[in-house]
Amino acid sequence: MENSEYELRRRAVAEQLPARKLDAMLVSFSPNLRYLSGFTGSNGALLVLRGKAILFTDPRYEIQAAQESTCRVRITGGPLTEAVLSAVRRHGIRRIGYEPARMTCESYEALADKLPMRASLVPVHGWIEEMRMVKSPAELALIRHSVETNSRAFERTVTRLKPGMRENDLAAELEYRMRRLGAEKPSFETIVAGGPRSALPHAQPTAARLAGLVVVDMGTFQQGYASDMTRMLFLGTPGAKVKHMYHAVLEAQLAGIAAVRRGARTAAVDAASRNVLKAYGLDSAFTHSTGHGLGLEIHEPPRLGKRDKLRLKAGMTVTIEPGVYLEGFGGIRIEDTVVVTDNGCEILTPTPKELRVV
Ligand code: ZN
Ligand code: ZN
Repeated sequence: MENSEYELRRRAVAEQLPARKLDAMLVSFSPNLRYLSGFTGSNGALLVLRGKAILFTDPRYEIQAAQESTCRVRITGGPLTEAVLSAVRRHGIRRIGYEPARMTCESYEALADKLPMRASLVPVHGWIEEMRMVKSPAELALIRHSVETNSRAFERTVTRLKPGMRENDLAAELEYRMRRLGAEKPSFETIVAGGPRSALPHAQPTAARLAGLVVVDMGTFQQGYASDMTRMLFLGTPGAKVKHMYHAVLEAQLAGIAAVRRGARTAAVDAASRNVLKAYGLDSAFTHSTGHGLGLEIHEPPRLGKRDKLRLKAGMTVTIEPGVYLEGFGGIRIEDTVVVTDNGCEILTPTPKELRVV
């Protein structure tokens, strides 16, 4: 990412401060911090004021912060809150916006207890998250790259899949391939679940040997950006019930994708998938929302669920992932990452969608 892109984002925040009746905005949630500063360390805070931004971190990150960010960097051996408070005093800041969903009670109290007279902390909900929803061309390129790495890791692993392999062997192999292909890490704990365990939407891989239906839900973080994909494998010969369920979920997934376009409500995309499953009598087995945004986080706004009324904008990246889960039998989910365009969407995930029989 170009430094100028971070600078533009910080300027956008600074320019909105007066309208929000703030003198400064304090950001410490790591993805938001990275979005505004480029800094990737685990301990940091950014104070955005009119005309400047100060990045606070500890001595472990002294070199890294200067390399990653063009912000003024303040290194402190003590608590970051103390350093923030001294900047608040020095700049005579009165109204300080903070992220209530992201700050610990401990940090809040450490700040609130020692604020100068007449200064106050103002809760600001989801401001930076809202900015992050629409991706820039540079971000889209990174997401595309992450998605391609993820699909390549899947392909290289699945071609080596052997009968008798265990769930955790397959998960380990997928994650090894991701890293060999340039990913930093999985974007969430890789899901590999076989047989009836595939009915657990967020199953953890076990030592069970793979047989029958297998769900693989995997993603990578590459250069900070997430990818997310679910594909189904079948070890053996699928029966009529599996084929029927697979057909229903695939049709629901394609209907969801067809409903994605600029201006469409997120709930309408969810309804498009859900209605297909309803026609198959499977809607009660679809227990989660149709998709979610992804970017610097694996799950970020917008959410594509029944009650989500947001309108999609071009440049948003979301997943479309309907699934059906039958206890004692198994589950099927198909998931792609797509980018919203003016007239529809572009499917980023290149992996074919048919049930992969091994
Ligand atoms: Zn997923
Ligand atoms: Zn997902």
